[in-house]
Amino acid sequence: MMTLDTIREELGDCRRCELCETRTTIVFGVGNPKADVMFIGEAPGRQEDLGAEPFIGAAGKHLNSLLGIAGLRREEIYIANVLKCRPPNNRDPLPSEIEICSPFLRDQVRAINPLVLVTLGRFSTQFILKTDVGISNLRGRVHMTGRFSVLPIYHPAAALYDPQKGPVMEKDFELLGALVAKRRKEYGLK
Ligand code: URA
Repeated sequence: MMTLDTIREELGDCRRCELCETRTTIVFGVGNPKADVMFIGEAPGRQEDLGAEPFIGAAGKHLNSLLGIAGLRREEIYIANVLKCRPPNNRDPLPSEIEICSPFLRDQVRAINPLVLVTLGRFSTQFILKTDVGISNLRGRVHMTGRFSVLPIYHPAAALYDPQKGPVMEKDFELLGALVAKRRKEYGLK
């Protein structure tokens, strides 16, 4: 079993795809290596590329406020992205980039072995659930993949630009809180 440190070492000063030409930093992931809940976003944005930490820009601030609804603190979770480097102008990840980068995310999921995976937005949801179904049809319900419970939620950036998504986001984070409590109880965790 690889540890997060060995996965980071393996990634090194990655030059496996062209995003290395335009990135400032690699954004590996941050948080509790034994987290019960792991969040997976899409790719670093501008702030993350500069700060080397996922979700520290506007979407991250929104995420932080939603975490409280689920009764979660940022320090207790782990957060990573499908892509570790920022796509120029925040364009969508290319299938080839996802293919090259995602083995590192898979290893991170295995190392953390969370009770619940929260996929934020279309790219991480479709990658984790291996589906082409749209996020609107997947969000707000618990899916199983192997031993992991997966809860897809809209990307907090999308929710920022579409106020109509606000109540849906709150509902989904309430569901997340209930799901985490249920799984912790099943596993005899507090
Ligand atoms: N959006 C993402 O998907 N990930 C980040 O880290 C920041 C914004």
